[in-house]
This record gives sequence, C-alpha cells and structure tokens, in this order.
Amino acid sequence: TRPLVEVRDLKMHFPIHAGLLRRQIGAVRAVDGVSFDIREGETLGLVGESGCGKSTCGRAVLRLYDITDGEIVIDGKAIGHEDQNSLRHVRPTMQMVFQDPQASLNPRMTVARIISEPLDEHTKMSGAEKRARVLELMDKVGLNPTFASRYPHEFSGGQRQRIGIARALALNPKFIVCDEPIAALDVSIQAQVVNLLEELQDELGLTYLFISHDLSMVRHIADRVAVMYLGKIAELAPRDDLYAQPLHPYTQALLSAVPEPDPAQSDNQGERIVLRGDVPSPANPPDGCNFCTRCPAVMDVCRRIDPDFREVTPGRYVACHLYDPEHGGTAPEQTGGA
Ligand code: SF4
Ligand code: MG
Repeated sequence: TRPLVEVRDLKMHFPIHAGLLRRQIGAVRAVDGVSFDIREGETLGLVGESGCGKSTCGRAVLRLYDITDGEIVIDGKAIGHEDQNSLRHVRPTMQMVFQDPQASLNPRMTVARIISEPLDEHTKMSGAEKRARVLELMDKVGLNPTFASRYPHEFSGGQRQRIGIARALALNPKFIVCDEPIAALDVSIQAQVVNLLEELQDELGLTYLFISHDLSMVRHIADRVAVMYLGKIAELAPRDDLYAQPLHPYTQALLSAVPEPDPAQSDNQGERIVLRGDVPSPANPPDGCNFCTRCPAVMDVCRRIDPDFREVTPGRYVACHLYDPEHGGTAPEQTGGA
C-alpha cells in the first residue's frame, strides 16, 4: 500500500536580499533536496543539530510555506504546489504540535476556545456539539474538563502542551508533525507527554513526523529515523539498524556522543568522534558532499561530487560515497532489520 506521506526532493530556499534595491544576492538553502516516506501509523524521527533544517522541513511538508521545489503527497493528494485556498480542504488531515506551548497558545483565549478554533474554521458544528467535542478532547489528552474556561497561564508547561495536542487532534487528523514537542518541558514531565503521544497514536492510528535533536528520545519513539545535516538527509534507516550500525560518518559522530542505555548490548562502543570545524552556512554550503569539510573519512571525490541519497541495503538509505561502488565504495553488509 501507498505510504501516507511521500516527500520527494523537497527544497525550501529563503532568498537573501541586500542593498537599496533589495536585490536577491543568494539564498539560504534550509532544506535542499529531501526525500522520505512515512507509512500509515508509523513514526519517522527526524534528527539533527539545531539549524540543520529539520523544523523548516516539518513546516514545509505541512505547506506552512510555499516550497521552492519538490513534491509532497499526503493521503494520496499532491499538495506541494497547491495554493493556500485549495490547501484548506487538506488542512484537517495534517496538523502540527509545536515546541513551545507557551508561544503557540493565545494567552487571551480560554482553553475551550483554543481547542475549538479549528472546529469553528473547518466544521459547521453547533455550539453544543463543539462544547462536547472540546470536553471529549480534554479528557483524551488527560486534562480535567472542568478547567475548560481557564486561560493558558493557569496551567503548567506539560498541561499547556496537552492543550496544544488537543487542538491538533480536534479535526481528526491522520498525520501530525511533532516539532520538538517536549524540548521546552521539564525533564520530569517529558516522558508523560511522550507516552501520551504514543497512546494517542495507537488509539487513533496517527502517523507522526517526530522532529528532535535528542537521539535518545527518538530511539524510544521512532520506528525509522532520518538524520539531517545542512539541509539534507545524510542517512535514513529502521531505528534498530541505525543505532546498532550507523553508516554515514555524520550519524556515527552524532551517536558516538550519546550515552548508551545498555553498553553490553551495543555494537557502538567506540570512542567519541569529535568533528573538526563548524557546520558551514546553509547560504554557502560546500561543493560536493555537504559534510566534506568535517568528515573524518573524506576522499577526493567527496569535494567534487555530491553523493546520491541511495538505498544501500533494503530499507537503508545513505548519502555517502563510502557505500557507492561507482565511486570506489562498498555496499554495507545487510543487518537484516529491514
Ligand atoms: Fe564523508 Fe565523503 Fe561520505 Fe561525504 S561522501 S560523508 S565526505 S566519506
Ligand atoms: Mg528546530
């Protein structure tokens, strides 16, 4: 069956203007040719350091921007180049849970109004029906329905994120982009919110794109993981394969810095890999492989030719010449997880 979400060669470039005439002198290539699928009911983790383009990617997939290039298909509908008016019809299907519940909730609106706003916009429900739906949603996300007429500031950070989740669920979406949904919360309540998201996924059959810089968290929640660097996906693999045997040198470096939950069980007991230099500017990425300025395994070809994002064993995709026989690399052994 067809995946619920299909993204092909997505590009999101932001023009840079300068001078009195505001002439365009370049572009920030925040997302620069990203492809992935997400199956119905699946969680794809999208990980990377801050500034790698993962949030922009999540927003672009939901068409919160006019994209520069590429195609996005959600639930069989191509939405990459639809105008905002035509997008109205698909908006209910796809929703977002934001990082900072404080900033994404209107402080002047009661919880009931915040949660029913999408119902006002997209349904013809009566006031009584909306009221009932709000109480049902509050109950579903673990908020006491008797608090419906309170304001966001009267809730804790974790409860505010529950309000954001209730609002995202109001229209029965199939696909939710969760953009660092727990990064702004106290560590003590992060697990509760993650557990809630997982319960809701099971109960409602939701499909998630889960964006995070936290590789330990993503290991817990994702079925497959995509690692992003400087606007591109370096590697995409089933979760267990990725953590047991990272293929891309960038993934290897990232994972070498993550504490092992159970070192005895892991193949990944190497030393921490410290990358030289800084991430280049997305306004001026290097020629060839975008990781070539920092890669411990860099070869001559890397500075000339941008590696294709290829399926190197079933279900594992890597953009790196090390695994491309055409450029002197060797295909990795199959790990069998796919
Ligand atoms: Fe490193 Fe070359 Fe692979 Fe890029 S293509 S990650 S520079 S080995
Ligand atoms: Mg971000």
